[in-house]
Amino acid sequence: MLRRNFIKKILLFSLAFLSLKTKIMANSLFKPFNIEDGIFLNNYVTHKSSFKDFWKWRKESNKPQPISFPVVKNNPSYLKSNKSEKTITWVGHSTFLIQIDGINILTDPHFSKRASPLSFMGPSRTTPPGLNIDDLPFIDLVLISHNHYDHLDAKTIKLLLKKQNINQPIFFVPLKLKETISKLGASNVIEQEWWQMSKYKNLEIHSVPVQHWSKRTFNDTNKTLWCGWVVMTNNFKYFFVGDTGYSKDFQDIQKKFGGFDLSTIPIGAYAPRWFMKDSHCNVEEAIQIHRDVNSKISIAMHWGTFQLTDEPMDEPIKLLKQLSKKLKLKKDEFSYMTHGQTRKF
Ligand code: ZN
Ligand code: ZN
Repeated sequence: MLRRNFIKKILLFSLAFLSLKTKIMANSLFKPFNIEDGIFLNNYVTHKSSFKDFWKWRKESNKPQPISFPVVKNNPSYLKSNKSEKTITWVGHSTFLIQIDGINILTDPHFSKRASPLSFMGPSRTTPPGLNIDDLPFIDLVLISHNHYDHLDAKTIKLLLKKQNINQPIFFVPLKLKETISKLGASNVIEQEWWQMSKYKNLEIHSVPVQHWSKRTFNDTNKTLWCGWVVMTNNFKYFFVGDTGYSKDFQDIQKKFGGFDLSTIPIGAYAPRWFMKDSHCNVEEAIQIHRDVNSKISIAMHWGTFQLTDEPMDEPIKLLKQLSKKLKLKKDEFSYMTHGQTRKF
């Protein structure tokens, strides 16, 4: 009898220990964010690029010629009337119009001439927006990944708010970015930390960790968070990756969501590797992200619109074609769109 009680106690103790251990592991995997003295940190990289590194890159940089890419004529009246089909339209860079069950979503909206705080200098657009801002349908939601000028464009946001001044879109932003968006006139801003979720109609909108950084002024490096966004219904999961280096974050994201029907993944702004590797994936790493998150269909973004870094502007899509073959991806498993093009799902 005594022996049986003893074994029972041991068993209960082991079970309690195991459940506690699982809890701790679950918490450490899906932990919200890391912050040190008001500075946000990445999950899997500690290296921080210095101002010295930046100047070394600028001095050595031999920027190739800007290239302009073709734009296809869009059908704005279809996009405005579409209430049932799932579609994706590429405006350029990381800006997509996503339509899911009658809800219209814009990712990192940028329709301006330059990705810069200044109107007269900074990286200028080489390919015009695939869709005119006036031709956009009513926008329900805007997803912002981080505060870099090629992703958060004040001029575009002001124009969007002017266009929908009565019924503003809801802006989803990473932590500490609400103030910047509110100052531009937005009254519906939802700030989310990593792994946090909000609901809108039948959609769930999740913020997820990616490996990047933030900066908009001289002294605000990493004082606002960066993230990717997952938008899902009960039968469709979309992953907007934002800007990212390759990291284990994507295996964590797969563990949480299982997989995605559609992902938009950055393939450009990767050279030189010694400077860009931690914060921008190259094409091979983008394909690995596509595989890590278990994405059925992925579409390339963050290429062909602004000349930002040292690789030729047409290199990312050339490499994507070559590597898709070499790595035996199915046809259209990871493809790219033409500026202005709409695809249905
Ligand atoms: Zn960035
Ligand atoms: Zn970027």
